[in-house]
Amino acid sequence: MTLRTAGPPRIAIVGGGIGGLATAAFLRREGLPSTVYEQAPRLAEVGAGLVVAPNAARLLRRLGVLETLRERAVRLDTGWEFRRWEDGTVLSSENLADACERLYGEQTYTVHRADLLRVIEAQVPAQDVALDHKVVRLETGGTPRLHLADGRTVEADVVIGADGIHSVVRGALFAASPATYSGICAFRALVPAAEAPEFARRPTQTLWIGPDHHLVHYPVSAGELVNLVAFAPAGDYTVESWTATATVEELLTEFDGWDPRLVDLIRAAGTPGRWALLDRAPLTRWSEGGVTLLGDAAHPMFPFFAQGAAQAMEDAAVLARCLATGLDDPAGALRRYEELRIPRTTRIQAVSHGRSHINHLPDGPEQRDRDAAFARHDPLVANGWIYEYDPDVALGDKVAGPR
Ligand SMILES: Cc1cc2nc3c(=O)[nH]c(=O)nc-3n(C[C@H](O)[C@H](O)[C@H](O)COP(=O)(O)OP(=O)(O)OC[C@H]3O[C@@H](n4cnc5c(N)ncnc54)[C@H](O)[C@@H]3O)c2cc1C
Repeated sequence: MTLRTAGPPRIAIVGGGIGGLATAAFLRREGLPSTVYEQAPRLAEVGAGLVVAPNAARLLRRLGVLETLRERAVRLDTGWEFRRWEDGTVLSSENLADACERLYGEQTYTVHRADLLRVIEAQVPAQDVALDHKVVRLETGGTPRLHLADGRTVEADVVIGADGIHSVVRGALFAASPATYSGICAFRALVPAAEAPEFARRPTQTLWIGPDHHLVHYPVSAGELVNLVAFAPAGDYTVESWTATATVEELLTEFDGWDPRLVDLIRAAGTPGRWALLDRAPLTRWSEGGVTLLGDAAHPMFPFFAQGAAQAMEDAAVLARCLATGLDDPAGALRRYEELRIPRTTRIQAVSHGRSHINHLPDGPEQRDRDAAFARHDPLVANGWIYEYDPDVALGDKVAGPR
C-alpha cells in the first residue's frame, strides 16, 4: 500500500526532534503544509538541559513560543563562568544580565529539552505528525520515496532528513563516511535543586576545566533541577546514544581530587547518561534533487559551544523561507539553502571541535597561557558572529520575495 500526503506541495520531514518540528513550524508560518515522520510512538526528549543562546531565542520569539518557554526556562545572569578544576578559582565569566540583550536583542536561557520540544510541538498541528513511522530506506533518483518499517511507502516532492546523528536520509544521499573515535565521552544528569549545592543553583552556566576533563552545570526547569554535563576520556567506550547509562561512582572516579563542592554535586547525580562523542568531518553538500538534510543529520558537532539545537532551528528558518520563495524549483531552493547554511555550520563545527583541546589542557605553562587569555577575553563579544545571526538578514540578499 502507498501512503500519500495531503495535496501539493508534498513535504516530508523525517524525524520529530527539535530540528524536524522547528522545520514543520517554520514551514507552516510560510503557509506550507508538511508531514513529520517520527519513529517513536510519542514526541519526547531525553532528560537533559540545553543552553538557548540569543540566536536561538530570536527564532523562538519569531515562532511565538518564547514567552511560554520562559515560564519553565532560567534566564542566565552569568554565562561561560570558567573555573579552575581543583579550587574553583574563576578564570573568566560573562555578564549576561547587563550586556546580552543590549548587544543581541535577546537574553540567554537554559531549558529542559522536553520544555523546548513541547513549545515547538504546539505550533505543529497533531495531524501533521505521523508517530510510530520509522523510515528504513529512502529511494532517490526520481520522485523521492520513503520506505517505512511497516512496509508502506510515501512519495514526496521534498524530503528533509532531520533524523539526527545516525541519519538514514544522509546514508541514502552520500557514501557513508565513518565516524571516528574522538577519545571523549559525555556524562549527563539532572539533579533536583534541593539536593544540589547552592553555587549550582545560581542562574549561571559554570564550566570547571582541568586536565583531560571538564564539567558544565546550570539550573533548568524554572530552577527546580540542575543540569550537569561532564566530559572525560572515553577509554574503549564508543556508544553514541541518549539511552546508555553510567554509574555515579564512575563519574566520581573521573573527577577525583576536584573541588569538593563539585564532588558534592556529582554525588547527587543519580544514574548519569553516557554518550561517546564521535567525530565526523563536515559535509560539503547536503542536498540531492528534492532531498536535503538538517540539524544533526547535516552537521553533527561537539557540544562545546552549546549550538547544535540552535543551528538546527536556524536551518529550519532558512529552509522554510527558501522553499516558500522557490516552490517552482524545489531542488534549486534546497541548493540555495545549503549555500546559505554550510559555511556557518562548518565554522561552528570547527570551533566546537577545537574546544576539546583547549578545555582539557594539562596543568603547566600552556594551561597558564590559556587562563591568562581567558581573563582578557569576553566570549559574549568574541562569539558575536554566532549570537547576532538572523536568518531573515542572511536571506535578505539571496532570496527575493515578500517577508
Ligand atoms: C551532551 C550534549 C549537550 C548538548 N547541549 C546543547 C546545548 O546546550 N545547546 C544546543 O543548542 N545544543 C546542544 N546539544 C546538541 C543538540 O542536542 C542537538 O544538536 C539537537 O538535539 C539536534 O536536533 P535534531 O532534531 O537535528 O536531532 P535529534 O534531536 O537527534 O532528533 C532526531 C529525531 O529523528 C528521529 N528519527 C531518527 N531516525 C529516524 C527514522 N529512521 N525514522 C523516523 N524518525 C527517526 C528520532 O527519534 C528523533 O526524534 C547537545 C548535545 C549533546 C550530546
